[in-house]
Amino acid sequence: MTEIEQRLAELRELGLYRRLRMISGPQGPRVVLDGKPVLLLCSNNYLGLADHPRVRQAAAGAAMRWGVGAGASRLVSGSMTVHRRLEEALADFKGTESALLFGSGYLANMGVIAALAPNGHVFSDQLNHASIVDGCRLAGAQTTVYRHADTEHLEWGLRQAAGAPALIVTDSVFSMDGDVAPLEEICELADRYDARVMVDEAHATGAIGPGGRGVVAEAGLQDEVDVIVGTLGKALGSYGAYVCCDETTTSFLLNTARTLIFSTAPPPPAVAGALAALELVREQPRRVERLAANATAMRDELIAQGLGTGPSCTQIVPLVVGDARTALRMCDAALARGVFAQAIRPPTVPDGTSRLRLAVMASHSKQELQTAARALAAAARDAGQTLEPPRQLERPARRPARVSELFDGEAIQRPARAA
Ligand code: PMP
Repeated sequence: MTEIEQRLAELRELGLYRRLRMISGPQGPRVVLDGKPVLLLCSNNYLGLADHPRVRQAAAGAAMRWGVGAGASRLVSGSMTVHRRLEEALADFKGTESALLFGSGYLANMGVIAALAPNGHVFSDQLNHASIVDGCRLAGAQTTVYRHADTEHLEWGLRQAAGAPALIVTDSVFSMDGDVAPLEEICELADRYDARVMVDEAHATGAIGPGGRGVVAEAGLQDEVDVIVGTLGKALGSYGAYVCCDETTTSFLLNTARTLIFSTAPPPPAVAGALAALELVREQPRRVERLAANATAMRDELIAQGLGTGPSCTQIVPLVVGDARTALRMCDAALARGVFAQAIRPPTVPDGTSRLRLAVMASHSKQELQTAARALAAAARDAGQTLEPPRQLERPARRPARVSELFDGEAIQRPARAA
């Protein structure tokens, strides 16, 4: 057995082996997965815009006008009028002075953190996305990982580091738990300790806040947050990413963010598709409202079935089962009942917190969500889970104040994902 084969065998043994499943057709509420029709409950196509006719037409039109590839980095010859138009539209949508496109959210987080905090001090939430963790590594920054959403722990860290230039970075909607960062408290601390704030709105844009403008806009913190990062790959139905900030920071990133400087500009069809999607979000705010209503309906249905929905208060709903193999079994059992909700295991989530991560879309019908909740409850039983007795609906407040309200003591001890 080669070393690589051995490592693959180990992954299988631990229930951590990953493989690709094939979907024929677009990311709609119903798809054909590996040849079998199922309800799709784990796509980030939150507003159903990835295959909207206007988005498709815009992408096709851009391919005819500008071609498929941008041909070079933005700083060489790859900056096209379509890039500029989307940047202007995004800055206007987010209420910032300017915006800058990146190849993906992963590249944006890596590039921005490394540019803003070279050899500095970064304070990063324990449950931040992997691209933020990797950005801290690339920056060579001293990184303090504060306990999830725990602003007291964050303040303790800031006090220790007083004097050194600091960057606080957090997801606004956490990608695996669907809860929301305490942004107001974070900004107050940043003000007190003279730190910069960077917020990743990957799962909030198009989903939360006025007309889907995100958590920063909902809290009115545009002037307090220094950099907003977002992706075009989720609610905006395309591929690529953006950074919204002031003009000085934009020029600085254009000159220093390696993942922008040394990578080909986003492809024109993806950019034009995202622009059309953004126009649809602005014209049709009911899509965002429908997503929020569906998210609430999904959580209510799951709770009624005796399934815990954790701290979720958004369209992302975790069904935490703990063990990776149990999560796989539950995923297979749900598939057998016609529902596809991917099992998410370490290292994407901390050890012992494997789960099915549900992602609700505005395009699901209430009936589909109800059917899915029943199938998931049955799948949980098939996988050996004991369900809670159906209980009174408790809707978590949108903005958690302290982590201790969300998790029990054991969960607080979870190992941090970034170091
Ligand atoms: N940030 C968060 C919070 C994410 O969940 C993701 C994608 N899963 C990214 C960044 C990366 O975005 P992209 O898919 O555009 O690379």
